[in-house]
Amino acid sequence: MTENCLFCGIVSGAVPSKLVYEDDQVYAFHDINPGAPTHVLIIPREHIATLNDLEERHEPLVGRIFSVAKKIAADLGLDEVGYRTVFNTNAGGGQTVYHIHLHLLAGRSLKWPPG
Ligand code: 5GP
Ligand code: ZN
Repeated sequence: MTENCLFCGIVSGAVPSKLVYEDDQVYAFHDINPGAPTHVLIIPREHIATLNDLEERHEPLVGRIFSVAKKIAADLGLDEVGYRTVFNTNAGGGQTVYHIHLHLLAGRSLKWPPG
């Protein structure tokens, strides 16, 4: 856990969140300010600030994050209608919380490219 990281605080339980899924490596919860009817954030328990900080040893963890996205989408009945998965990186990519998180968005018609 990294001090002063909001999402480390969520993983530890110090900051409340609405849990969607958890396992030994990954934690998923509802976004506090949803950008779509379904907006779930899927994060590693390990603190990794941005995608730029990924190391080779994280490759299975990143795979797990996407597998969890697939499972959540199926569990919420979103797999057929469709959904979007996004990692924002650094300010230019729209990142505001520096603990990597995969956004899972669904429930409205999502436009491309995003704003
Ligand atoms: P980013 O802009 O870094 O890609 O996404 C950060 C996301 O975290 C935003 O969608 C924002 O609404 C969400 N967020 C920020 N603070 C909190 C919080 O305290 N709890 C939850 N559940 N989501 C948060
Ligand atoms: Zn963190």
